[in-house]
Amino acid sequence: MSVSTYFDTMDYGPAPESDKDARAWLASHEASFGHFIAGRFTQPGGQLEDLDPASGKRLAHLTQGSAADVDAAVNAAQAALAGWQALGGHGRARHLYALARTVQRHARLLAVLETMDNGKPLRESRDVDVPLVARHFYHYAGWAQLQESEFPDHVPVGVVGQIVPWNFPLLMLAWKIAPALALGNTVVLKPAEDTSLTALLFAELAQQAGLPAGVLNIVTGDGSTGAAIVAHPGIQKIAFTGSTEVGRLIRAQTAGSGKSLTLELGGKSPFIVFDDADIDAAIEGVIDAIWFNQGQVCCAGSRLLVQEGIHDLFIARLKKRMEKLKVGAPLDKCSDMGALISPVQLERVRRLVEQGVREGAQCHQVALDVPPGGCFYPPTLLTGVHPAATVATEEIFGPVLVAMSFRTPDEAVQLANNSRYGLAASVWSETIGLALGVAPQLKAGVVWINSTNQFDAAVGFGGVRESGYGREGGREGCYEYLKPRHRLNRAQRNAVSATPAGARKDSPLQGGLVDRTAKLYIGGKQVRPDGEVSMACHAASGERLEDVGLGSRKDIRNAVAAAVKAGGWSSATAHRRAQGLYYIAENLSARADEFARRIALTTGVSAEAARAEVDAAIKRLFSYGAWADKYDGAVHQPPLRGVALAMPEAIGVVGVVCPEEQPLLSFISLVAPLIAMGNRVVAVPSQQAALVATDLYQVLDTSDLPGGVINIVTGKSAELLTVLAEHDEVDALWVRGPAEFSATAERLSVGNLKRCFVDHGEVTDWHDAAQAEGSEYLRQATHVKNIWIPYGE
Ligand code: NDP
Repeated sequence: MSVSTYFDTMDYGPAPESDKDARAWLASHEASFGHFIAGRFTQPGGQLEDLDPASGKRLAHLTQGSAADVDAAVNAAQAALAGWQALGGHGRARHLYALARTVQRHARLLAVLETMDNGKPLRESRDVDVPLVARHFYHYAGWAQLQESEFPDHVPVGVVGQIVPWNFPLLMLAWKIAPALALGNTVVLKPAEDTSLTALLFAELAQQAGLPAGVLNIVTGDGSTGAAIVAHPGIQKIAFTGSTEVGRLIRAQTAGSGKSLTLELGGKSPFIVFDDADIDAAIEGVIDAIWFNQGQVCCAGSRLLVQEGIHDLFIARLKKRMEKLKVGAPLDKCSDMGALISPVQLERVRRLVEQGVREGAQCHQVALDVPPGGCFYPPTLLTGVHPAATVATEEIFGPVLVAMSFRTPDEAVQLANNSRYGLAASVWSETIGLALGVAPQLKAGVVWINSTNQFDAAVGFGGVRESGYGREGGREGCYEYLKPRHRLNRAQRNAVSATPAGARKDSPLQGGLVDRTAKLYIGGKQVRPDGEVSMACHAASGERLEDVGLGSRKDIRNAVAAAVKAGGWSSATAHRRAQGLYYIAENLSARADEFARRIALTTGVSAEAARAEVDAAIKRLFSYGAWADKYDGAVHQPPLRGVALAMPEAIGVVGVVCPEEQPLLSFISLVAPLIAMGNRVVAVPSQQAALVATDLYQVLDTSDLPGGVINIVTGKSAELLTVLAEHDEVDALWVRGPAEFSATAERLSVGNLKRCFVDHGEVTDWHDAAQAEGSEYLRQATHVKNIWIPYGE
């Protein structure tokens, strides 16, 4: 070949990375692994095969984790817990720092092994995955160091079960174990069956770096091993990354168990290009968004939305750029794309693309010249896709981009949000005002402006809707592995139950027409319940008082519809929301005596106790009025030229089921933080003391709160809870009361994966601000959206 030919083609020659060290490590274990429990490998069982996806050849034998193996790992983690916590933040910081250094020292070995096991190009494992792994341990070494000063009111959750998928095996391990260990928990982790090798290597290296035995345990195996971890009673928290389907199963399985749960699930993230975007940069962005890691990325920008004026030009240039993508041997340093994880995944991608074509899409694929025997699939672009087509709605989890056009920014937002998922989004426009205007409107946990697939340990990552809940990374990621200190005293507090005698007793029902009956409060109006049925309210002494409306399924539906319609509250200024709360406090204050009498009558507490409850409720309203414009986000400075804005956002419509005790104070303690943060609420007040809530209608009427922000449906708490939990337009549930209520909420929330904030039957002392007010409530009332804004040339 002549020099000019080389210049014309700019072809790269092969540049394979050596797999010698990785093979030597495999050989040192005779390519056969047990679990890593209590600081050492168990006897290999040899039931599973770990294959190289690029050749189909076996790399190692792995062991199928049984319930007994999981039990042994949990026992080891429990035994190690006290010692690990006794080290204190500084002691753990030193261990995390040692892990970061270990990863850096063995970076090449880890990257090569990851590429062999997963099929991803070495360029990515070497330049993205492994450096980010080290970065996570450094970052969380810092949080360990600062734990005592930054989280004085929190304690570690305990033994944590973590289940990770195959797309970023080592990186997901780091995202999970770095915060867990840093904050004083011990871990049982299950890697994906297809990609367990780097987790095992990491465990070995960690042990060499002095990590105490039992602090990190790795149990290999398939989904049944994962299920055994989820079910184990010795585990206090489950952190899962994987498919929405399995996330749902885990939510259902843990419902009512008291285990805390974070779910990082699937996505169908939009990549929005406005006509004033830098087209070359946006095309490079698309390449990275969908063909990074063969598209097997939960936050892959898999739905391309291009503004009509530049659509055809953009697609033509994108096709040209696709031709330059090099698909080939993953260990070749010149490969842009490697192999998909497995024949099963390859088949799934193939099937979905065929279905897309059957449903009317045009398919453009790059010709492949790849090694035989591997799970290779070409970069694929589907155009002319209908927004309702299967390929536009299903997560394909492969190198397949679907493209659509839009006309206006509003239409872009509508199309982008037309998904059951809400993980990430990219917005491309040179007009910063447009980009920053669109970002808050997108239903997603992460928004990248003029960039894509940015990750950093300091910046939280996670989704909304069916993409799950919880955040990994940053300060918010710390809270996922902590619990409020006051929960430690749970048993003690439950002994001093604040519930007045008989308060949980069902009130007898009275059928018939409504007569002198307090109505429901829906959309800012007092409305009669559907069917006009009422429920008798009694004084604590047993004397019959007035009736209240007996809310039904239909009433909850109306209340949710009113709350959905009041969406403007979420974009009202914080100042405006604060005012709303202060007005409620002021109006309640004007009628304090009346409320105190009502509380005393319905709950049987003394006049002084009742008055103290009203005063505490007023004070609490003031607190949340104060917090409304002070619960700020943060500006992160990840290692790139740019910033990430971490902005707390309202979750949306929240269903609240109040407890029986302290009916006014508990109602206010639950509703006030939610509306302070811009949520709209459908509240089911105390059943026994419903009259206290119905008295609030007039207070709300005169408080200048838009209709639909607070809706109150009186009735049978258990029945109304079920309706709220099953309603797809309710985004989160806050439930207090008997433990069965919490279990019902968690079990029935699997439909649209509502975030649940429940008490598992634990009694709250609503007077104690440490338990009943403040950051935990504000955090639960919001999710953090991280908006990445790179700058400079
Ligand atoms: P899964 O959700 O099944 O796997 C994720 C992890 O959960 C793996 O470790 C898996 O074990 C484990 N697991 C499976 N079943 C259970 C269970 N019942 N209880 C506890 N743990 C369980 O994803 P798949 O690997 O099957 O991939 C299927 C699809 O999921 C993909 O095509 C993709 O669309 C999506 N996916 C999304 C990911 C994301 O990050 N959002 C990541 C991976 C997949 P094992 O692998 O050993 O069976």
